[in-house]
Amino acid sequence: MSAKNKNTKTFTPATSSPESPRNFIRNIIDQDLNSGKHTTVHTRFPPEPNGYLHIGHAKSICLNFGTAKDYQGLCNLRFDDTNPAKEDIEYMEAIMEDVKWLGFDWEDRLFHASDYFDKLYEYAVQLIRDGKAYVCDLNQDELREYRGTLQEPGKDSPYRTRSVEENLELFERMRKGEFPDGAKVLRAKIDMSSPNINMRDPAIYRIKHMVHPKTDKWCIYPMYDYTHCISDALEGITHSLCTLEFEDHRPLYDWCLDQLPVPCHPQQIEFSRLFLKYTVTSKRKLNELVTQCYVAGWDDPRMPTICGLRRRGYTPESMRLFVERLGISKSESYTDMTLLEDCLREDLDARAQRAFAVLRPLKVVITNYAENQTEALQVHNHPKIQEMGTRTIYFGRELFIDRDDFMENPPENFFRLGPGQEVRLRFAYVIRCDEVLKDPNTGEIQELRCVYYPETLGGKPTSDGRKIKGIIHWVEASKALTAEVRLYDRLFNVEIPDGDKDVDYKTHLNPDSIEILGNCKLEPSLEQTSVNNRYQFERLGYFCPDKDSTPQKPVFNRAVTLRDTWAKLQKDS
Ligand code: ATP
Ligand code: MG
Repeated sequence: MSAKNKNTKTFTPATSSPESPRNFIRNIIDQDLNSGKHTTVHTRFPPEPNGYLHIGHAKSICLNFGTAKDYQGLCNLRFDDTNPAKEDIEYMEAIMEDVKWLGFDWEDRLFHASDYFDKLYEYAVQLIRDGKAYVCDLNQDELREYRGTLQEPGKDSPYRTRSVEENLELFERMRKGEFPDGAKVLRAKIDMSSPNINMRDPAIYRIKHMVHPKTDKWCIYPMYDYTHCISDALEGITHSLCTLEFEDHRPLYDWCLDQLPVPCHPQQIEFSRLFLKYTVTSKRKLNELVTQCYVAGWDDPRMPTICGLRRRGYTPESMRLFVERLGISKSESYTDMTLLEDCLREDLDARAQRAFAVLRPLKVVITNYAENQTEALQVHNHPKIQEMGTRTIYFGRELFIDRDDFMENPPENFFRLGPGQEVRLRFAYVIRCDEVLKDPNTGEIQELRCVYYPETLGGKPTSDGRKIKGIIHWVEASKALTAEVRLYDRLFNVEIPDGDKDVDYKTHLNPDSIEILGNCKLEPSLEQTSVNNRYQFERLGYFCPDKDSTPQKPVFNRAVTLRDTWAKLQKDS
């Protein structure tokens, strides 16, 4: 069934048991180890370096590296660099950084399909010698026409009966660069009437006069299907895990290995891809968003790329937890973004330092507090984890609170600040609002004049014990940092942006996916920070410093809100 037809995903609670989650791939591995077919597990993660990795790749990375690790086996990183037209060293470096950041290590096993170009060529010659491959002169259109359709068998190419000698000579001349791009291909001689189109004499080598980033020796390049199985075999891979779209390619994978004297015959096993709602995970589309400037780069925090999510504030732990909760199966469905966000909330709730920030500041003057005086308050960095220590925040005569925490005409159940109303400033004092100053021209509220009750410091009751229902966050003005804070929303405003082939997915881009607030006030402890730090800004969500941040101009990203406001909005509407 097509992934596009389903759009539900059941939520599986976290497994707290230390044992690794079961899945059908582990069952196969267990059988292979029990039967003696294998004594060890060796997997690989084989990205094509034609773009940055996305959250779907994280699933594959965690599966390949994670499974190998759990069985004390090995996992290779292999760049599938068979198409020099699209591949780039920049992508290779970014991929390595992302895999490491996710917490995995290929040790000394970094490989490239291009490492095997000599061997692949030798094997191709062998196939020709054995009468199992031939040079074909049909052009692209003719090849398509001869291939047939799902309903109709293909037709044999008129070049299929070339002699071994002629094929050897032509293939050699292809390698020497005697023919232009597309003039000839080398095809496996399998079966033009196979019900599986992949088996209808697929091309295994094509001419491409183009320099490869890793080697300048070639002007013919092996095709993916032919390269992949042989690379697996040469590396001694036991279980070659790939996504479901390769299921129909498995007969070709096996055919190639069966014809050649390769050192072993790995088993290809397919699992379902990750599809995430409200985003796209096709490298072609992500590339388009970057090159056509719909986003600010591959690491734009709205992108589903690993580097984008990292910059947004995601942690490796939250991503691994996400993949664990997704599970591994063969059934395709769209996953809710909420599942990913919940994993981050859970991770950061447990270990992010708390801090105070005011995003839309409203000035508050405490009229009964001495001028030019501040007092230092020691507060816990985490409400539950004492070991995370304390930090100093300041109280003084001038403060900022968030505009949302004041209403001039509050409804009855508004337990924050209003004229004549009292509220507790977290960790500090109870205050009462006595006066609202407005801009005489615009009517905009500019300042609140309040009094504080000195006996209420640090959560103590008022002198008559009256109940103070509301508690809000705040920042002292004279020591506050002024920062830019970037808030994010879904990159697209429909669940499956590329669900309809007749509509350009870019028309579904959410115009409000980023909101930049330029005059936010942060507590001074946030001055010394780095992009690796994560904070909970109390009542506002989880934030991290952006790479654009400087000491003069701190910039923070909101990784995720505290609760799933998105789900709530959907429920309400
Ligand atoms: P795209 O189609 O976007 O270009 P790809 O599958 O060609 O992606 P590769 O670089 O070939 O990208 O992927 C490397 C590995 O990651 C492959 O084994 C692939 O199956 C796996 N992978 C890619 N996308 C996903 C996904 N959404 N979910 C799970 N695994 C994925
Ligand atoms: Mg691919």
